[in-house]
Amino acid sequence: MMSPSDQADGSRLWLPYTQMQIAAPPLRAARTYGTRIVLEDGRELVDGIASWWTACHGYNHPAIMEAMREQLARMPHVMLGGLVHDPAETLASRLCAIVPGAMERVFFSDSGSVAVEVAMKMAIQHWLNRGDRRRSKILAFRGGYHGDTFATMAVCDPEEGMHSLFQGVLPQHVIADLPCDDASQARLADILNRYGDELAAILVEPLVQGAGGMRFHAPDVLRCLRAAADQAGIFLILDEVFTGFGRTGSMFACEQAGIAADIVVLSKALTGGVSPLAATLANGKVTAAFWSDRPDHALMHGPTYMGHALGCAAALASLDLFVQEDRLAQVAAISAQLETGLSPCRGSRLVRDVRVMGAIGVVELDPMPPLADIKARLVERGVWVRPFRNIIYLTPALIIGKGDLAHLTGAVCAVVDELKACKTA
Ligand SMILES: *Cc1c(COP(=O)(O)O)cnc(C)c1O
Repeated sequence: MMSPSDQADGSRLWLPYTQMQIAAPPLRAARTYGTRIVLEDGRELVDGIASWWTACHGYNHPAIMEAMREQLARMPHVMLGGLVHDPAETLASRLCAIVPGAMERVFFSDSGSVAVEVAMKMAIQHWLNRGDRRRSKILAFRGGYHGDTFATMAVCDPEEGMHSLFQGVLPQHVIADLPCDDASQARLADILNRYGDELAAILVEPLVQGAGGMRFHAPDVLRCLRAAADQAGIFLILDEVFTGFGRTGSMFACEQAGIAADIVVLSKALTGGVSPLAATLANGKVTAAFWSDRPDHALMHGPTYMGHALGCAAALASLDLFVQEDRLAQVAAISAQLETGLSPCRGSRLVRDVRVMGAIGVVELDPMPPLADIKARLVERGVWVRPFRNIIYLTPALIIGKGDLAHLTGAVCAVVDELKACKTA
């Protein structure tokens, strides 16, 4: 076996999700602007996925840069233990005001995974604080993705996820099928009967299961889960890390189902893609068990960079942009253009499904294509897209113009077409 230090590139980086011994060398990014990534060799790529869906206003938006510069000069960061500051206070209030439901408190952290863990901890500790030691399990769903840390791996899809290797190591939660039809609704009812008094909460990504396969479900599924949580007397946690901030066509996905969660998790596009920040919001039902005269009823969590002031300043500027530049209208236009732009793929024998929701366009292939080859062909056409498994998806910046979006959909269609030609050759 080759040791990593034998590698010719001299790099000390350990890259994510990559078998580094055989992977093609990564591209080197030099700078960004708008929807573009400029490589060190001078090539310029149109970014089709906005850096894992974070850069919703495009890269280097001047309003966000300016807000960060001002904050940087005043106070980049101060610990949130025993201290608070305006950017965090204001952001917490503004998030409570726009997230559906009567959200009362916001707990900040630094990544989506940690924010999901905090949500799980809030739900489970709520019951512990009330003296109920049995409610320690989370009901989550097949096809779901909630992060890569150990607690979140345990609530991802157990088979299809990236984490099946760790099966024996992970705590056991309850994984069900999303209640999409009569049969799966009946199975969910069974599970709730069987595990009812061991469950602390139901955890779901609303409307779109993102990294687990870009699968969509109907708003009815969420209404069903809200009703199930109410009936069981447990919490509904919505992981809006992928769906939040306009991605599905509404500011938050749950708005389309007319439901509110007890706990909501936000990250990814929260800062417009410039700074790692995440938020876990809880309503009064959840917080009620934490306010008491007992110190051990406090939420025992506190990330070092919690409520990072620079990140909060970026997030506040980002929220302003949603209003000032009417992002949701842009999402509607992107949606229509994705629909027409990707429709040529529908005819291909290699394509199992083409689907669009908000600013998400998905081409699902059958069978499994050679991913490295697809990536290389897309880069040759000047676009940055990161297909996974049998999915090619677009989640561009919400500011993307017609021309750049046409370039993206055109490249995806062309590459799918080339694959077809390779197959028959
Ligand atoms: C990306 C993602 C996470 C994890 O966020 P990280 O910041 O990568 O830890 C959790 N849930 C969903 C739905 C996500 O898309």
